[in-house]
Amino acid sequence: MSENNPACVYCQVDADTVPLVALTYQGQTYHICSQHLPVLIHDPQALVGKLPGVDKLQGHSG
Ligand SMILES: [Zn+2]
Repeated sequence: MSENNPACVYCQVDADTVPLVALTYQGQTYHICSQHLPVLIHDPQALVGKLPGVDKLQGHSG
């Protein structure tokens, strides 16, 4: 883990490069960049394997 250097769960870009949004999910803190925040909202299945437990989520399009 790299708590001191948060990075997007999707593309691993860090907060020196883009704004990151902090997520709290299942007691853990994750970060996602503004570019990939819509992925979490609309197509969370795309994050399977990147964000543990996200396979339980349903996107708006579902
Ligand atoms: Zn990203």
